[in-house]
Amino acid sequence: MSAPVLPPTNDAITHAADLLRAGGLVAMPTETVYGLAANAADAEAVARLYAAKGRPRFNPLIAHVANLEMAEAQGVFRARALELVEAFWPGPLTLVVEVAEHATVSDLARAGLPSLALRMPDHPVARSLLAEFGGPLVAPSANPSGRISPTRAEHVAADMGDLIDLILDGGPCASGLESTIIDARGDRPALLRPGSLDPAEIDRIWPGLIRPEANPDAPQSPGQLLRHYAPQAKLRLNATTPDEGEAYLGFGAGEATLNLSTSADLTEAATNLFGMLRELDQRYDRIAVAPIPDHGLGEAINDRLTRAAKTA
Ligand code: AMP
Ligand code: MG
Repeated sequence: MSAPVLPPTNDAITHAADLLRAGGLVAMPTETVYGLAANAADAEAVARLYAAKGRPRFNPLIAHVANLEMAEAQGVFRARALELVEAFWPGPLTLVVEVAEHATVSDLARAGLPSLALRMPDHPVARSLLAEFGGPLVAPSANPSGRISPTRAEHVAADMGDLIDLILDGGPCASGLESTIIDARGDRPALLRPGSLDPAEIDRIWPGLIRPEANPDAPQSPGQLLRHYAPQAKLRLNATTPDEGEAYLGFGAGEATLNLSTSADLTEAATNLFGMLRELDQRYDRIAVAPIPDHGLGEAINDRLTRAAKTA
């Protein structure tokens, strides 16, 4: 059944927030493109989102917030980062900051990173939904991976209608150009992704912008930051049984130190992946991981495990 497409009345916003609280997926207009929103704190909802998009790997997602208080509950903003917030929020600027100690954004939404990307969007419908929901929402573009980003509700309905719960129709989006992503953790701001906010504007508030392409020591693209998180423990993949002294991260029936999903459900496995890896990493030096089927979300799980095994 295809998701209903509703104009963004108060009732529709209330309904959308209820769906999100229940773990649902709601397409909403932002000032850039239509985003597919899910509760950032609900790893299972985030796993459903990755599955709906058919993402072959877990990229960290941007958590959208309604106000600064909500942002500061999730991330640690240094003085310079707050100046950028002051100057450009709400708007197409995403800030990468350190994750706050009591943050609720799930490990899966952050792809296991110790950092977090936050943005306050400037679209009335996105803002009302965030305010009504009362917590951070991840919202990557509402299209299947590899397809063109949707700028109208009809695009979302055609491409993803059967996979999601509701589409809020806010009319055509203004631009289609994504947000500018700045890493605001260091002594100088670093441009991780050019976008619709001109970097010269950033420089005006916080001089010394680093462009990672021009700096061989910095990551070349946001995706490469994924390599910054890898377990200390040595990973052995596709292991049907653990060796002596190894922890066993299982999948499906059978004995295991921890099990990604005893019922061999890939969405449940994705939900548990980062938390369980982290937990085993704290207790063991060597982790054997059960074979994970390479279809559906399994492809993203295997991509992540392969990289974690390489860098360990
Ligand atoms: P989008 O697909 O527009 O939601 O954008 C997600 C982008 O944000 C991806 O390019 C990610 O690599 C980037 N991103 C999200 N979280 C982080 C993070 N913690 N550090 C660096 N980049 C991030
Ligand atoms: Mg996209």
